[in-house]
Amino acid sequence: NRMPLIAGNWKMNLDHLQTVAFIQKLHWSLRDGGHTEGTVDVAVFPPFTDLRTAQTLIDADKIPFALGGQDLSAHDSGAYTGEVSGAFLAKLDCRYVIIGHSERRQYHSETDEVVGSKVQAALRHGLVPVICVGETAEDLEEFGASAVPVSQLNVALESVPADAEIVVAYEPVWAIGSGQAATPDQAQDVCAKLREVVAAKLGADAAARTRILYGGSVKAANIASFMREPDVDGALVGGASLVVDEFSSIIRYQK
Ligand code: 13P
Repeated sequence: NRMPLIAGNWKMNLDHLQTVAFIQKLHWSLRDGGHTEGTVDVAVFPPFTDLRTAQTLIDADKIPFALGGQDLSAHDSGAYTGEVSGAFLAKLDCRYVIIGHSERRQYHSETDEVVGSKVQAALRHGLVPVICVGETAEDLEEFGASAVPVSQLNVALESVPADAEIVVAYEPVWAIGSGQAATPDQAQDVCAKLREVVAAKLGADAAARTRILYGGSVKAANIASFMREPDVDGALVGGASLVVDEFSSIIRYQK
């Protein structure tokens, strides 16, 4: 009963002109591929500088994709050079915002506490935080797969109200961009444990309702095997979301 969510994180790829062309081509590819609207939620996360043009196109052509930012500031406004407020994302009709991606944690020193304050900022502005958690290869060796993502999610959900809409993305760092995806079993195991965290923090209703995505080397050839798992409700796709036919096939995994 949870609506599947297929999300494309474009990272630092596609300028605003390329984004317009891509969204149009993806829309056409889904239509030509016999995709049934309303069977899966589709969200794209372009760079900030593309959001206004993407919004205009999606609105004008009635394209059924949700938009999201790849990050936001923990602050709402003020003297924070280079930062982008959740208020601005909300004004651009963003529904989602990715928070705590491993690349932000790794290259921009985002701690669990920073991630938690960004989750609060997203909720203040009516955005759905897509909270990313995942273990590195070293974590996997030392602690097993679930300990680090479970503890990251525990901190991120601190002070989140039980009725908040959130999305959780389990992205093992070793699987990102490596071509070596987790197995469906591994993804299911950790996603089930993350659902237990949501239950403990926000209650059973929230746990039943919250979508938990898998991310890390998802492609057309493996998406169906992840989606068969009971606690995997969708995918956060990087590289494969930059190729129209591939991303279109991922979205049409049910066919
Ligand atoms: P890849 O799909 O390229 O492995 O990236 C996953 C990811 O980081 C999505 O946020």
